Amino acid sequence: MNMRSPPPAAPRDRRNRPMHDLRISITDRCNFRCVYCMPKTVFGRDYPFLPREELLTYEEIVRLARLFAAQGVCKVRLTGGEPLLRKDVERLIEQLATIPGLELTLTTNGSLLAARASSLRDAGLHRVTVSLDALDDDVFKRMNDADYPVARVLAGIEAAAACGLAPVKVNMVVKRGTNDNEILPMTRHFRGSGHILRFIEYMDAGNANAWQVKEVVPAGEVVRRIDAEFPLEAVDPNYEGEVAERWRYRDGGGEIGVIASVTQAFCSGCTRIRLSTDGKLYTCLFATSGHDLRSLLRGGAGDEQIADAIARIWQARDDRYSELRAAGAPAAQKIEMSYIGG
Ligand code: SF4
Repeated sequence: MNMRSPPPAAPRDRRNRPMHDLRISITDRCNFRCVYCMPKTVFGRDYPFLPREELLTYEEIVRLARLFAAQGVCKVRLTGGEPLLRKDVERLIEQLATIPGLELTLTTNGSLLAARASSLRDAGLHRVTVSLDALDDDVFKRMNDADYPVARVLAGIEAAAACGLAPVKVNMVVKRGTNDNEILPMTRHFRGSGHILRFIEYMDAGNANAWQVKEVVPAGEVVRRIDAEFPLEAVDPNYEGEVAERWRYRDGGGEIGVIASVTQAFCSGCTRIRLSTDGKLYTCLFATSGHDLRSLLRGGAGDEQIADAIARIWQARDDRYSELRAAGAPAAQKIEMSYIGG
């Protein structure tokens, strides 16, 4: 899918970054309890998830997506929580697919994907990213605190590839002392498969995961570990602001990626904006507050008024949390990642 370049009048933020990727969280619920995102200690049985009437409807989401597309957004990523838990996602994708020039992607934990891959594809989805933090079931369970066999997620990945939702990107969050011993088994498994395995540095997203920098495995170390067994070479990014740093196997075995928010901040090229399940706009994954668009939608505001609000929010944006973290800035009370979709 060739993505169109942003229209000339597309707003730029205070660091001259265009708005390129809209990440839409369509539910704050999940069937996993990943320790780096939704630890059970905080997101237990009685956690007050958002009531249905507070969620944006699919019609509201599509209306907003149209307004974002008119301001340069070329890619929409559906996230959660776990987006496949929300009913009739295919109906939303069908509607989003009517917006010209938008790349439609979805990030999932893969537990429900095997049965849904082809209906998602038929609805108009272009690509899928699957989170998988280990191949070993015990380690997998230590990372996601849920009772799902790895085999189920692997079946989802194969089903997605088989129906054309390819290349499938597989995201592994690496936490030292918990699953870093799975870096090489995961590498061996996905090498030569056509899927793109990406290693994500464990981040201090939200406030619930009790993050410690000593549990971060720097991207450089991940690359060195793999390179020692399978020689790698660096590859140029596909486009400006691409999150993952690309590496390919020298022997043609495919490519991997590393996402180094902690040790190699990439805020200068960040073109992402996030819409929460209940219609708030966040200009950074590590934001402390958002901008309410739902009250505009439900308060009778016209498209122009909402479009102006979006442009003003983006033009006032100055976020660069990862750079500031690296410079030692103190952490603030951040929005939970499961609420704004990572
Ligand atoms: S920390 Fe914020 S500004 Fe920096 S790359 Fe992440 S989302 Fe973008």
